[in-house]
Amino acid sequence: MTVLAPGSATIGFIGLGVMGRRMALNLRKAGFDLLVHDLNSQAVTELVAAGARDAGSIAAAAAADAVITMLPDTPDVEAVVLGEGGLASTMRPDSVLIDMSSISPTATKAMAVTLAAKGVAMLDAPVSGGYQGAENATLSIMIGGEADVLERCRLILEAMGKTISHIGSAGAGQVCKVCNQVAVAINIQAVAEAMTLARKNGVDPSKIRAALLGGFAQSKALDLHGQRVLDGNYAAGFRVTLQRKDLKLALENGSATGTALPATALIQQLYGVLSNTGRADLDNSSLALLMAEMSGLGQEGAP
Ligand code: NAD
Repeated sequence: MTVLAPGSATIGFIGLGVMGRRMALNLRKAGFDLLVHDLNSQAVTELVAAGARDAGSIAAAAAADAVITMLPDTPDVEAVVLGEGGLASTMRPDSVLIDMSSISPTATKAMAVTLAAKGVAMLDAPVSGGYQGAENATLSIMIGGEADVLERCRLILEAMGKTISHIGSAGAGQVCKVCNQVAVAINIQAVAEAMTLARKNGVDPSKIRAALLGGFAQSKALDLHGQRVLDGNYAAGFRVTLQRKDLKLALENGSATGTALPATALIQQLYGVLSNTGRADLDNSSLALLMAEMSGLGQEGAP
């Protein structure tokens, strides 16, 4: 087993958006040679300025020892992997695809089988921790795939994240991410409702947030999203459209496994309302905007 290490390994990186560009920069900082690709040329230019090489195409990025994909949704990853000139037909046998996007566990398992038939290993490695985690290389990375492939890629993953959890075989990392999104979304809705209730009572919501942070209601959502509500700051961050996609994945999985997810279904509907009213690109904390509207409040200030 050859460990993929800075100084010897080349990493292909496809998808330089909110998350990917920060993660790729951390790989450069760790000393990895990088071949980058994105449909957005501006994002590529930024990485080239930091010492990455412009691959120019998916096929050229596929020449690397390992290729990372950080793309929005299942169809995007399937297009890059299974489409004409895609990774499945261009990656070298013995190389590794690390898909760090949040996508369908079922589609992930199918892609792992297709790649294995060509001698290419795959890890599903979705992340949690937001753009701050991507920037600070403190992401929580949830891995599905073979343990020896994870060990080959450990230095790559450690350059981007702090908590590397091997969950199980192919698709298990994506199952973990879906569970994560269910817990996060319900927590965000809880914060949105609590902050709205505070405002409707004419009580200072900043004092309520501070008090709750010292008790059982303490959470990252209360800390970060509660502050966003106080500031009226709903710039993404993690876009409504991506959170809605993640809850769709959860509900599809719940349906396939016979799991009751009533709160998830409700919140998926609320994200649908935000999307259908022109707010798909706001931060996922904007559930608080919706709760304020539904309660007869404006965006800022007490009633
Ligand atoms: P994003 O939309 O900002 O970035 C996606 C990038 O992929 C864009 O730069 C886009 O141009 C590129 N792209 C799309 N299709 C492509 C193709 N065919 N070829 C090359 N490039 C292509 O998304 P993001 O916020 O970076 O999220 C990426 C993934 O990470 C998603 O699955 C998301 O759910 C997940 N995620 C996001 C966050 C967050 O806080 N933003 C946190 C955890 C996980």
